[in-house]
Amino acid sequence: MNKTSVIQEMDLKYNLHSWSAQAGLNPHVITKAEGIYFWNEEGERFYDMSSQLVNMNIGHGNKKVIQAIKDQADKLPFIGPAFALDVRAEAAKKVVEVAPANMKKVFFTNSGAEANENAIKMARMYTGRYKMFSAYRAYHGATYGAANLTGEPRRFASEPGIAGFVKFVGPYAYRGPIEFKNEEEASKYYLTLLREQIEYEGSETIAAIFQESVVGTNGILIPPKGWMQGVRDLCDEFGIMMVCDEVMAGWGRTGEWFAVNNWNVQPDMITFAKGSTCGYIPLGGVLVNGKIADHFNKNTLICGLTYSAHPMGCAAACATIDVYKEENLIQKSKEMGVVLGEILEEMKEKHASVGDVRYIGLFSAIELVKDRNSKEPLVPYGKDPDGIMKKILGMLREKGFWNYSHENIIIVAPPLIIKKDELRDAMK
Ligand code: PLP
Repeated sequence: MNKTSVIQEMDLKYNLHSWSAQAGLNPHVITKAEGIYFWNEEGERFYDMSSQLVNMNIGHGNKKVIQAIKDQADKLPFIGPAFALDVRAEAAKKVVEVAPANMKKVFFTNSGAEANENAIKMARMYTGRYKMFSAYRAYHGATYGAANLTGEPRRFASEPGIAGFVKFVGPYAYRGPIEFKNEEEASKYYLTLLREQIEYEGSETIAAIFQESVVGTNGILIPPKGWMQGVRDLCDEFGIMMVCDEVMAGWGRTGEWFAVNNWNVQPDMITFAKGSTCGYIPLGGVLVNGKIADHFNKNTLICGLTYSAHPMGCAAACATIDVYKEENLIQKSKEMGVVLGEILEEMKEKHASVGDVRYIGLFSAIELVKDRNSKEPLVPYGKDPDGIMKKILGMLREKGFWNYSHENIIIVAPPLIIKKDELRDAMK
C-alpha cells in the first residue's frame, strides 16, 4: 500500500467531510501549494482555478502572511476578545480603512457564516424588528441562521427554520421570466416585486435585507444597473438595514476592495471572511456603519465568540491587506478580469454547450446547457444522476485544472496574482 492510500484510508475512517457523500468519496491527498498551484502526493500539479472555495486571493505560500502568523504565535497567540491588543486595533483600523467610507467599526468572527449570524442579531437589536429578507439563489453559510438566509437547497437541513425569514427573487438576466430591454428595466421590474413583498410582509417588521453583492456559488449573478441603488432606496424608505454579504465577492475579487463599490452604494453592514486572511488562518467579520456603531457604543452588543478577533487572525489580516496593497492586487483583478472576459466570450462562441458566461474582475462562471435555444441546463437542478458535472471536472483535473462547480455552473476564480499567460494557458 503506498503512502497516499494509507492517508486516504485514515482520512476516510475518521473524517466526516463537509457536504460530500461519504460513500464513494476519495479525496486527493495534497502535499504542497505555491502561488496559483497545488500538488497531490503523486506529484501532479493543478492550477487552482477556484482559489480553494474562492478564498486564496493572494495565492498559496505567501511568506509575508506566514511570517506574520509565526511572529504573533511567538509573541502572544491568544488573549480573550475583550482585551485591547496592538494587532487587534491595527487589523480593525486596516479593515475599516479599505471598506466603503460609511463603515466605521468591525466585529470580528472566525468565518463567513458566523459573520452572517452576528449581522442577523445586530440588525434585530438595532431595529427592534425581527424579519430577515434574503434572495433565492443566495448562499450565506451553513450554520443555522445563515442557512436560513440561504435561498437554495443547502438550507433544507435547517428547515422549517426560523420564523420571519422571507425569501425574494432577485435579478438573474439569463434565466429571468422576461427579456428586458436593458439592465435598468430589469432592476425596475425586480424592485417593484421587492417593494410589494416588503409592503405585504409589513415593512415595520423587517429588520434587514441580506444579499450577496455578487451572487457567488450560485453562478456569479451580477446585479443589473440600478438594482443596488434601488435596494438602498427601499431600505432608506422603510428603515430596513441593507446588509451586503461579501464573504466571497469581497477583497478584490471583483476588482474593487468590496464588490458593492462597483455600484457606488453604501450598505449599512458588510459581512466578510475568506479573502480577509485568504485562509492562512480563519477570520471573518461584520462591518457596521456609524449609526450602528454608535448604537452599540451605548447598548450591549449581545454577540460574543471566544475566538473573536483572534490575535493570529488579526495578524494575518494586517499582513494580507498589506499584500493586496503592495502587489496592487485589486487593480490587477480588474485588469485581468478584462482578459478573463475575452477568453470566456471566445469560449462561448466556440462551444454550443456554453449557454452563458458571466464575469466581473476575476470572479466568473460558465453556465452549461444542453441546448442554447431552450437554455435547458446540462444537468437538472439539484440532480446529476449520471455524474456529468463530476465527469467534466474530472476531465479538467486530468489536464491539471482544479475548478469547483455548482449545479450546471463552473466557477472560474483564480488567485488574483495570476498572470496573463498563465490565465490563457489555464483556460485554453
Ligand atoms: N456567504 C457567502 C457569500 C459564501 O460564499 C460563503 C461560503 O462560501 C459563506 C457566506 C459562508 O462562509 P464560511 O464557509 O466561511 O462559513
